[in-house]
Amino acid sequence: MKYYSTNKSVPEVSLMEAVTKGLAADKGLFMPERIDKFPAEFFENIHKLSFQEIAFEVAKKFFGEDVPEQTLKEIVYDTLNFDCPVVHVNDNIYSLELFHGPTLAFKDVGGRFMARLLGYFLKENNEEVNVLVATSGDTGSAVANGFLKVPGIRVFVLYPKGLVSEIQEKQFTTLGNNITALEIDGTFDDCQRLVKSAFMDRELNEAMVLTSANSINVARFLPQAFYYFNAYARLREQGVENDIVIAVPSGNFGNLTAGLFAKRMGLPVKRFVAANNENDIVYQYLQNGKYEPRPSIATIANAMDVGDPSNFARILDLYNHSHAAIATDMKGYRYSDAEIRQTIGEVYLNYGYTCDPHGAVGYRALEEDLQEYETGVFLETAHPAKFTATVEAVIGEGNVPLPVKLAEFMKGEKRSVKLGKDFEGFKKFLLNKVS
Ligand SMILES: *Cc1c(COP(=O)(O)O)cnc(C)c1O
Repeated sequence: MKYYSTNKSVPEVSLMEAVTKGLAADKGLFMPERIDKFPAEFFENIHKLSFQEIAFEVAKKFFGEDVPEQTLKEIVYDTLNFDCPVVHVNDNIYSLELFHGPTLAFKDVGGRFMARLLGYFLKENNEEVNVLVATSGDTGSAVANGFLKVPGIRVFVLYPKGLVSEIQEKQFTTLGNNITALEIDGTFDDCQRLVKSAFMDRELNEAMVLTSANSINVARFLPQAFYYFNAYARLREQGVENDIVIAVPSGNFGNLTAGLFAKRMGLPVKRFVAANNENDIVYQYLQNGKYEPRPSIATIANAMDVGDPSNFARILDLYNHSHAAIATDMKGYRYSDAEIRQTIGEVYLNYGYTCDPHGAVGYRALEEDLQEYETGVFLETAHPAKFTATVEAVIGEGNVPLPVKLAEFMKGEKRSVKLGKDFEGFKKFLLNKVS
C-alpha cells in the first residue's frame, strides 16, 4: 500500500517510509492510497470474534500488503494484551473503556502497535531511530512505555512544563534507559511546533534519523480503528444493532479520524460526535465552515488542549474538503470546565459510573445529541485515576482508588531536561546527542 501526503506535492511513499518519516516532506500528513471496505457478512458475524481477532482483520486491510501475515498477527496480538470493553452506563448510553492498557489511556493501543511495527522495520534495516513525541499528557507515557528498552530506538518526550498531571508526568519522566523527558517552558502547541520544525530541519535530518510517534504517524493513528469495530461487536452481543452514535473526546482528532476511517470501511455507525473542551476550533468549523486555529487554553481535560488539531488535515482530505459532507458524518459540541465538572458529578451520582474529565465531555455530548431511539457510545479515553485531584474534588476524596499499575509509577524519581520553547535550543540539544 502506498501513502500519499495530504498536501499532495511530494510522491507517494511505502508504509515503511511513512512510519519512519512520520510527516511527509511537504509537511502534509500521510494517508493510505485506499481504504478497503469489509463485505456485509463481516459485520453479520463480527460479534462471534474476539477483540484480537477483529483487530487482526482490520490490520490486514491496512498493513497486509507490507507486513508478513504471521508477523502482523504477532504485532496485533502482542499490542492488545488488554481489553477495551463496552460498559453500560444508563438507558441508551455505553462507555467504551480504553484505559485498561499499561498506561491507562487509549494511546496505549497506537503507541504499542507503532513500537512493534517500527521495531520490525528496524530489524530489517539495522537502523538507529530517534522518536520525537510531543505530549499533552497521555501520548508521552504510552509511547515511552511502548518503546522502553526497544533496541535501536531513542525516545524524546516533549511536554509542557506544569501543564500535565503529576501521575501523567511520572509515567514518562521515571523510566530512564532509552527514554528522555524534555520539560518545555511553553504549551503543548509549542511542543508540537518544535517537533514539526525538527522534521523540517535539513541539518538535523542529516545528522540523525528522526520520526514522530504522535497521531500524525500512520502506525499510531490507524490502529485506533481497531476498537471502533470491537465496540460494534460488543454492542451486538448486548443486543444493540442500529442507530449507533459514537462520541469522541477530541484534541488532535487522531482518535475521531480513525473512527471515520472505520465508517468508510463499512462499520455501521450512524454518525460521530466530536466533543471538545473550550478549545473548540473544530466545533466552530462545523458550525460555520471556517477553520481558524488559535493558541490553546488550559482546561481540566488537558489532553484535549489543542489549538490547531493536526489530524484535521486528514478529515478534510477524506471528505474532499466538503464541509457539507463532514458536517453530515460529524456533529460538534463544546463544554466549559464547569460543565465538565458538573457532568462528572451527575454521572457518578445518578449511575454510579466514574468518568474522567475527557470521557465526561463525550458523555455530555451524547446526552445532548442522542434521539430516544438511538444508542450512544462515548470513548472513555483515560482512567479517572490519572486525574484524581480533579475528579475527587467533584465526587469526594477517596472515591477514585489508585490502580496498582499507576501506584508503581508514583514510586519512581522524576528526571527531566528543562528547555525553552525556541527551536535553536532544542536543535542544539539533539545535535549534542549524536556528536
Ligand atoms: C490524547 C487524548 C485525547 C485526545 O485524543 P486525540 O486523538 O488527540 O483527539 C482525549 N482524551 C485523552 C485522555 C487523551 O489522552
